[in-house]
Amino acid sequence: MSVLYKASKIVVGENLELIENASILVKDGKIIKILSNSEVDDFGFEYELVDFGQKTIIPGMIDCHNHLALDTRLDNHLVRMNDSECEQTIRAIKTMKDDLLSGVTTARCLGDRYYIDVTCKKAQLEGRIMGPKLIVSGIGMRASHGHGYVGLPHCGKEEFRKTARENIAKGVDFLKVFMTKVINATPYIYHFLTLDELKVVVEEAKSVGITTACHCSGGQGLDDCITAGIDCLEHVYYISDEQIKRVKEADMWVVYTPSYALNNELLFKFSPKDREGSLQEKEIIKGCLENSIKGKLKFGIGTDGIHQGLAQEAIYISELGANNRDVLAGITTNAAKICGISSYRGAISEGLDADLVVLEGNPLEDISALKQVFSVIQSGEIIR
Ligand SMILES: [Zn+2]
Repeated sequence: MSVLYKASKIVVGENLELIENASILVKDGKIIKILSNSEVDDFGFEYELVDFGQKTIIPGMIDCHNHLALDTRLDNHLVRMNDSECEQTIRAIKTMKDDLLSGVTTARCLGDRYYIDVTCKKAQLEGRIMGPKLIVSGIGMRASHGHGYVGLPHCGKEEFRKTARENIAKGVDFLKVFMTKVINATPYIYHFLTLDELKVVVEEAKSVGITTACHCSGGQGLDDCITAGIDCLEHVYYISDEQIKRVKEADMWVVYTPSYALNNELLFKFSPKDREGSLQEKEIIKGCLENSIKGKLKFGIGTDGIHQGLAQEAIYISELGANNRDVLAGITTNAAKICGISSYRGAISEGLDADLVVLEGNPLEDISALKQVFSVIQSGEIIR
C-alpha cells in the first residue's frame, strides 16, 4: 500500500532544507517522491492520504551511540551489566521499543555482551521485535585493566585480533574499542591500550572493509587513536585545541554524548571527584566540547544508554554552540554517514528508507521541538 504523508513543514534532503506545504509519497517502505501539495493528484495507483496539518516532518532520528542492555534509567545500571544473557536480552527488547517510540528509527550500538546487538538486529529486521534498525559492533574490546563496563577484557595484540575476527565472523558492522575512562580527574587522562593493540583492530577492520570506533575522552589515548587510523572518536570530553586540529586534518568523525558530563546526576555518578571537584571537571569538559564544536569537527550525537534521551543530548549540543541544522544533521544525515548507511537512509530524499518523525514544532527554529514527537514512521509504517 502506498501512503502520502502531508504536512505544512518538511525537512528534506542532504542539506536539511525546510519546504512548506508538501507531501512525501511512500511505497514499499521507501520514499518515492517529494511533492508540493499543488502537484498532489493522480499517481496512477491507489494511495492513502495522511495529513499531519501544521506539524513538521523530519528524517527518523539516529542515535549514534547506544547500548541496548545498558539502561541508565535503572538503579545500579552498571552492576546490571553482569546480569545473565537472558535478563540483558529482555532489557534490550524493552529499550529498543522505548527508543523507537521516542523517534529513534536507527541506532548505532557500541557494544553489548553476548552479541545481543547482533541477535536483536536480525530479529528487528525480520519483524520479530520492535525497535530501531541497528548498526552493531558486537563485543566491545577493552584492556584487562581498563574502563568499559559493557566491554570484555583483552591483553596483548593477539587477544584483540582474536575478538576482532570473532566479531567480524558474527557479522558486525564496525569494531569498538575502549581507550580511556569516561570522566577523568584531570590533568592526567589515563589510557589503557597500546598503539599496537589499536593498530591491530584497525588492520582487521580494514581487511574486511568495515570501520572502527573508540571510546576516548582525550589525552595521549586520543593522539594514539588518530595515529592508528580509528574512524570515529566517541565522547572526546577532554579534546585539546591541538587535537581538534589533528582530528580535522585527518577528517575523522566524533560522536558527542554530552549528558554524562553536563547532567549533574550522571556527572556525580561517574566523576571520581567529590561534588565540588566534579562541578569543576564539568566546566573543563564544557570548554573542551565548546572548542570542538567551534572547531567545526564533523559530528554525530549519541545517548550512551540514556534511553529516550536523544532529544536532550541534541539540546545540550545546541547549548554548547552548534547551530540547529548541524545538530539535526548529527542525529540524521551526518549520523547516517557515521553508520555507513547514507546511501539508503538518514534523509528525506527520493529512494531512501521512509523513516520519518513528525514533530509538533520545527527543530530548525527551536531545537527543543525534538522532544515533542507526535508520530513515528519506520519503513513507511506508522509506529506511533
Ligand atoms: Zn558507550
